[in-house]
Amino acid sequence: MESDVAIVGGGPAGLSLAVMLARRGCRVAIVERQDKSALSAPVNDGREIALTHKSYKLLQELGAWQRLSPQEISPLNAAEVVDGNSPSTLHFGREERGPLGFIVCNAAIRRILYETVLESENITLLDNSTVTGMTLNGAVRHLELAEGEGVRASLVVAADSRFSEVRRMAGIGADMRDFGRVAIVGPVRTALAHGGIARECFRYGSTLALLPLPQPNVSSAVVTVPASLTAQIMAMDNRDFAAHVLRESGSQLGSVEAFGERHCYPLVATYAQCFFAERFALVGDAAVGMHPVTAHGFNLGLAGADTLARQLGDTGRLHQPAKLARALSRYQLLHRLESKPIYSGTNRVVDLFTDDRLPAKLLRKVVLRASDRFAPIRKAIVHQLTR
Ligand SMILES: Cc1cc2nc3c(=O)[nH]c(=O)nc-3n(C[C@H](O)[C@H](O)[C@H](O)COP(=O)(O)OP(=O)(O)OC[C@H]3O[C@@H](n4cnc5c(N)ncnc54)[C@H](O)[C@@H]3O)c2cc1C
Repeated sequence: MESDVAIVGGGPAGLSLAVMLARRGCRVAIVERQDKSALSAPVNDGREIALTHKSYKLLQELGAWQRLSPQEISPLNAAEVVDGNSPSTLHFGREERGPLGFIVCNAAIRRILYETVLESENITLLDNSTVTGMTLNGAVRHLELAEGEGVRASLVVAADSRFSEVRRMAGIGADMRDFGRVAIVGPVRTALAHGGIARECFRYGSTLALLPLPQPNVSSAVVTVPASLTAQIMAMDNRDFAAHVLRESGSQLGSVEAFGERHCYPLVATYAQCFFAERFALVGDAAVGMHPVTAHGFNLGLAGADTLARQLGDTGRLHQPAKLARALSRYQLLHRLESKPIYSGTNRVVDLFTDDRLPAKLLRKVVLRASDRFAPIRKAIVHQLTR
């Protein structure tokens, strides 16, 4: 089939970009390896996504946010950080100006974006389709599919995850940082209500985050440990997992009961060496795959899709090689300016808070005390969380 833009990957980034481009008059083809039934009712993958105000606005503009039921949205009122075995917590909030952001589960985000795609004109979704090859022939990129005839487009965009195969097909490398750790996520019920507060406990050897979910006493526990402990934690029964969460949380929310499924994510951050090639671009995790500790992955993916759509403008530029090349180059510049400091900063935070040698322990105490004592530093962190 023929289209103006072919997007590989119907994840949150690919679906968002498809709607943004279709609104500008582009004919868009989405190539997705899952089938439509999986896209229309995504299974819960345990990821609870903290969304910034910018993402909230972009999702509203797409008409996707309005598809969430109130029971699917948790306002994120504040964040609290505990370091090592310290009894005190550092509080980040902006009570007088409303929540820091919102937490919505990844399955709901995927569902509302898929529903928005279904109602958009100009979008064809090829499900059950896997890209096996990509060629450039003059003004056309051709995607070969394992099934069917393939897709010809003026521009191909890869949104096929941080381990993007299509990025590789375009000859673009990525810097990868394997942290040697995993995030294990699962829901817990606590005796005390979470109050919409996200709690991050940086203990020695492991990290626990408790993310507030829509029910007042239910949080998502995100346990980060060395990958060598994966089997042990995944095999724990609910009682032992709850005891682990209770210990790591310092009993901040009283007794803990674990329930539901646990999911495990290896922690690997990726940053593509280039965000574009001739008639080709990367968005979402395929461009920047973040460590989840600062909750920026999808937020950056959505912002990047918005930047790319704005630079492409209408379909005209797709057919004028010089203008298209300039638009892709500007996209790369702007998205790098936005993402690189956050990517590097997040990796520095991870380094500092997972290094249990004495100098690092002292440094994190200094950093947290400085944030506690100096309002401008705290404000800067809150600004970063709420952008
Ligand atoms: C534990 C955890 C917590 C997180 N918390 C947050 C948070 O709080 N805030 C935040 O902003 N982000 C968070 N993230 C990051 C966020 O989940 C990702 O950034 C986001 O899901 C990436 O979306 P994507 O569309 O780029 O990629 P993906 O979601 O990986 O989607 C890629 C799609 O491409 C398809 N695909 C892959 N290869 C092919 C192929 N060859 N052919 C066809 N289709 C293909 C796949 O089937 C999939 O549908 C978290 C991540 C994790 C793991």
